[in-house]
Amino acid sequence: MKVLIADDDALSRKILQDALLEWGYDIVVARDGKEAWTILERADRPNMAVLDWMMPGMYGVEICSRLRTLNLTNYIYVILLTAKNKREDIIKGLESGADDYVIKPFNYEELKLRLKIGRRIIELEQNIMRLANTDYLTGLLNRRAFLKRMTRELERCQRERAHLGIIIMDIDQFKQINDKYGHQVGDLVLQEVSATLVNSCRGYDFSGRYGGEEFILCLPGADKWSTYQIAERMRSSIECQKILLPDKKNYIKVTASFGVAAMLPDQPKSSDELIKQADDALYQAKNEGRNRVIMCPLN
Ligand code: GH3
Ligand code: MG
Ligand code: MG
Repeated sequence: MKVLIADDDALSRKILQDALLEWGYDIVVARDGKEAWTILERADRPNMAVLDWMMPGMYGVEICSRLRTLNLTNYIYVILLTAKNKREDIIKGLESGADDYVIKPFNYEELKLRLKIGRRIIELEQNIMRLANTDYLTGLLNRRAFLKRMTRELERCQRERAHLGIIIMDIDQFKQINDKYGHQVGDLVLQEVSATLVNSCRGYDFSGRYGGEEFILCLPGADKWSTYQIAERMRSSIECQKILLPDKKNYIKVTASFGVAAMLPDQPKSSDELIKQADDALYQAKNEGRNRVIMCPLN
């Protein structure tokens, strides 16, 4: 768990630093309010912050209230640390959006336990987010989480004038697998096929379960032809894949159909538009006999 320590006093900083390191936290240190704010604005921001109230540049309470106005994807647990010990100060500190308040000079055991509370809350949040965003069967992003991430990537690629590719894939005649081997084997096929998709991706690509036996992949930076080639590689891997049945003796094979669409750097598209184009291409792949990749003819 990464924690930001922000204090303008070198000695306080050193004491906090040593204590938190001993308690097993990863730490990032700021020497004034401005530096603390810069760290909290970064994408790799820490999950927790111990902020001194009085700091040059920006006060801890100000950082707190500013932080709470940002629409962050993850919560930052803030402990205010200060010599101010009047009830009005404590109320003001908590009102600014701090989660907790520790009076200086701090007691080691107390701070250790208060950090532990923060850690518990952050871990709880991370667990809830993981459950809310992933498909339990395949471990891929669920549809909602995928679309949210895709919208973010699309905006980034438009800003940076980069290509972005989309692949939608649907297992062929999947209903027959369920009918012939049962739902459990159907589930196993979904797991095995989704693992193959993930293995055929590059590190910064991401995938989701779009519907029952339908999967979706987003390839930031990939142009139309690279997206097509990756889809073709996936198609071929699935076609060759032997899925071992629970009897551990027999195996089955499946095929899948793919639709591909892409966004050019100078032609921004919405995620709805891109998905519709990939979906139309997938529909065509099904109509033309399945087990194939079709690329959207439009730019
Ligand atoms: P096509 O080639 O046209 O795609 O045919 P298909 O049989 O794959 O498509 P269809 O839409 O007719 O059937 C999809 C089946 O997928 C029906 C549904 O019961 C099954 N399915 C959806 N979700 C799950 C799941 O989580 N587990 C299992 N085992 N089956 C599922
Ligand atoms: Mg299907
Ligand atoms: Mg389907």
